[in-house]
Amino acid sequence: MNRLENKVAIITGGARGMGAQTSRLFVQEGAKVIIADVLESEGQALARELGDCACFHRLDVSDEVNWQELVEKAMDRFGRIDVLVNNAAVLVYGAIDELSKRDFERTVSVNLVGTFLGIRAVASIMKMQQAGAIVNISSVDGLRGVNALAAYVSTKWGVRGLTKVAALELGHHGVRVNSVHPGGVDTIMGNPTGAPREEINKHFQNVPMQRVGSPEEIARATLFLASDEASYCNGSELAVDGGLAAGAYYLGLPGAPL
Ligand code: NAD
Repeated sequence: MNRLENKVAIITGGARGMGAQTSRLFVQEGAKVIIADVLESEGQALARELGDCACFHRLDVSDEVNWQELVEKAMDRFGRIDVLVNNAAVLVYGAIDELSKRDFERTVSVNLVGTFLGIRAVASIMKMQQAGAIVNISSVDGLRGVNALAAYVSTKWGVRGLTKVAALELGHHGVRVNSVHPGGVDTIMGNPTGAPREEINKHFQNVPMQRVGSPEEIARATLFLASDEASYCNGSELAVDGGLAAGAYYLGLPGAPL
């Protein structure tokens, strides 16, 4: 409890899925949370659920003016910004030779440009404060290649790279920047048909933990990196993926699952 006491946090894509769970956990831990998302009714409903410690702000992460308005609102209301979680993202499936330029660019615009704009929007404030933590939600797909996800994978590698640059540029101003790399997680993005956990887990037999992750499990890792407990973590990448990025099994050889 109280691991984020008196801290002001912005969580993009905070209206549902992992972002919503992160918003709930941050409020439990004492933060004031700005839920920033394009989904207005979901975001407003979550803010009502969380009470006085949360508010909703409509933000399209790919829009510079939206970011400026959000940061001005946060500073007017709270006078500081301690944490930014760049969590908003979209995912589009398609083989490279089927993927449209439009879909590729839209994915880059939300996932990568959105993360850049977020870092840029809070950087001068956090530098002035000589304190702050930025957590960029990448993916296990920012650590490896995956078929059918050219746009998504490219952006998640980009987010990982951007994290390193921001860690270098902001670290000596007291601002830490780290990335989280979730594996498969049971949200609308990870489980669009809403299949029951036992069903989805059948598709995770190549993962050492042999199951899908829950939004709470990712939120806890984000909480750690956002909190002062991670005071010496900067530019690091935390895989929260049940071991998926650790390697691949040679089925039939010792040590593989039965
Ligand atoms: P989700 O689709 O449930 O939530 C994504 C949120 O981002 C939504 O609330 C959506 O409205 C918001 N969003 C989309 N475009 C936006 C924009 N332009 N501006 C503002 N908000 C926007 O997905 P999720 O699973 O909760 O994903 C959260 C993060 O975790 C994403 O960065 C995703 O890439 C990453 N991730 C997810 C998985 C998974 O299996 N679910 C795995 C690895 C990484």
